Amino acid sequence: MAYFNYGEARKYYTDQEIQEFLSQNPELKVMNYTPEPAPTPQSPSQPPDFVSPFANDQVVKTQGIGENPQNYPSTGGHAGEDLAYIRNPEYGTPTTEDEIRAAIGGLVLSGYQPGGYGNVTAIVGANPQELAQMAPEEKQNLVNEFQQYLPTANSLQDFPSLGKYENVALLGHGADTPLPSGSEVATGSAVMREGSSGMSTAPHLHTEYTNKGQLKALMDIIRNRLYR
Ligand SMILES: [Zn+2]
Repeated sequence: MAYFNYGEARKYYTDQEIQEFLSQNPELKVMNYTPEPAPTPQSPSQPPDFVSPFANDQVVKTQGIGENPQNYPSTGGHAGEDLAYIRNPEYGTPTTEDEIRAAIGGLVLSGYQPGGYGNVTAIVGANPQELAQMAPEEKQNLVNEFQQYLPTANSLQDFPSLGKYENVALLGHGADTPLPSGSEVATGSAVMREGSSGMSTAPHLHTEYTNKGQLKALMDIIRNRLYR
């Protein structure tokens, strides 16, 4: 007699899928069945992985969220975290031209804001399956909106549609923006090189992260959800 562990199967399949399977395999004796609602099946659409935008740990945080409100009156303080590579720990001097990686994979929104972010790349986090399912109009709308609001934006929260998404990361002051708006990037791929473009006094990376419009510390998210 072959047994079928219904409770275990429910971790991976919907009840409908299990019933279908069982109807095709009537010889199986069902065990461990409970009439409770099945948990949400593991779908391929899990939140994207996160990586540190820097390839090594020699990073110093130079400004945190909410700091220096006198310099950022419209957002009540610095809207993200500033991070810089320390190439030479002895001198503590951040250097430019280090590679910045995509903290999350997804849809790229990029541009240039001379008075603030400089060369900036935002990523609407999504895994490849989610990106494939995203309607072309939705992607185009995000691209258009990013271009429209970038000149006056002070934080990710100034882009209306981005508040709908769970994982949005922004990286600023890059030396360049090699990825065009509307392109797609995998987690950990090169996004830009560290720079000092825009309103910046030394080479560093400005980072922002929002979850459904709520500003959170990107590095905290990464530390808590680092998969690789
Ligand atoms: Zn900053």
